Amino acid sequence: MKNPKHWNCVDCGVNTAKGGPTEEFARRKVKRGVAKVWQADKTWEVYEVNPQVWKAARCRSVLCIGCIEQRIGRRLTPADFTDGELNQIVGTKRLSDRKGFRGKREFGFLNPMFG
Ligand SMILES: [Zn+2]
Repeated sequence: MKNPKHWNCVDCGVNTAKGGPTEEFARRKVKRGVAKVWQADKTWEVYEVNPQVWKAARCRSVLCIGCIEQRIGRRLTPADFTDGELNQIVGTKRLSDRKGFRGKREFGFLNPMFG
């Protein structure tokens, strides 16, 4: 996944990853060779769903859980999420619930290689 310009939900504008890696950071990192561990927290709503779900949502950008569910007309279920690294990190309670991660270990950081 490519770093977005920002992490604001395209529908409601909420920042889904405060301090998350952006396209601008990725550019600077390439120039300077900076490595950084991204600290996620329970305000983050960063995830990756299967291509057919993005297609149903008519979006390949940033959507919070509430807005993607509104677009697809149903709640997300664990089967909608990919096995990707993004889905291992900690996030909001509703995201954790949708992933079926209640009580499971989630990581509080993103790998520095991301971006
Ligand atoms: Zn939203």
